[in-house]
Amino acid sequence: MNRSTWIAALGALGAAVTFPVLAQTVKVTPLGGIDGEFCPHDRALIFEDPNGTRILYDPGRTVAGASDPRLGKVDVILVSHMHGDHVGNAHTKAPNSGSCDKPDTSVSAMPNSSAVNIALAKKSKIVTGSEMPAFFAAKLKANGGNPADSVLARFGGSVTVGGVRIATVAALHSNGLDPDYIGGELGKAMKEAGIAGDVGLATGFVLRFSNGLVAYLSGDTGITADQELVVRNHYNAKLAVMNIGDVFTTGPTEAAYVINELVKPAAVIPSHANEVGTVNGKVRPGSRTEAFMKAVKVPAHIPLSGKTMEFDSAGKCTAGC
Ligand SMILES: [Zn+2]
Repeated sequence: MNRSTWIAALGALGAAVTFPVLAQTVKVTPLGGIDGEFCPHDRALIFEDPNGTRILYDPGRTVAGASDPRLGKVDVILVSHMHGDHVGNAHTKAPNSGSCDKPDTSVSAMPNSSAVNIALAKKSKIVTGSEMPAFFAAKLKANGGNPADSVLARFGGSVTVGGVRIATVAALHSNGLDPDYIGGELGKAMKEAGIAGDVGLATGFVLRFSNGLVAYLSGDTGITADQELVVRNHYNAKLAVMNIGDVFTTGPTEAAYVINELVKPAAVIPSHANEVGTVNGKVRPGSRTEAFMKAVKVPAHIPLSGKTMEFDSAGKCTAGC
């Protein structure tokens, strides 16, 4: 062999050795309100590990309950906190019900929540932190499910389900349980007194997929020191899903600061915009989504409902963005 043939041969060998690892991507599919758009209620994302494990993050109101045909197999459901737009107190009849700005979320999921109904139908594990696992275990049991399917991952620890390591991290938010989930005389009395049930602190998540990709899911949060100290310095997250909606959570400016200065991932998916983020799949001028896109220094990939994006271990989008 001459020199160039050797180089070519070594290159081919290198490709053969490393290609299967590099080629492994995590697929992220938004399950939003309207196909191809980013709408006010959109929270839900399906993460599919290269090994086939499927994780539903915050079903919210845009997943049309357990019968939503987009769900497929769901191995794990993550619930960041108990607010109705995340756990799913109501939901659409079917994907594309209503319009982007006025979704039809007229199907009640009370007193179970959409997360519990999906877990029962799909026999999924529900992984939560803080003091939420006991709530989900009780709901599963009360509906003929297995309470052991509610799995705890409290701050600082982690659990591995289906080859994906799941940890919870701090979210600076509130996490009161609507008394309607409790019901009865107790629920009624709490409602009248204007107090919510205590299920501990709201959380975010850090996932480590089998291809090595580490993803930070902010949940609903303000700016926290942990975004640098824990999410970046300890977990080294390369992909972030970041709330940008303002009022309830960080707005676009604050969210961009979190991404640019604290988490410093390779890419970010904005979430929880609480506005019509796109029209015909294009970012709406004057929107918070646009403000975030302009302020953030790393590639920001809009979660268009139904459009699958693929990320490699370094957090780079390799397809669908
Ligand atoms: Zn919330």
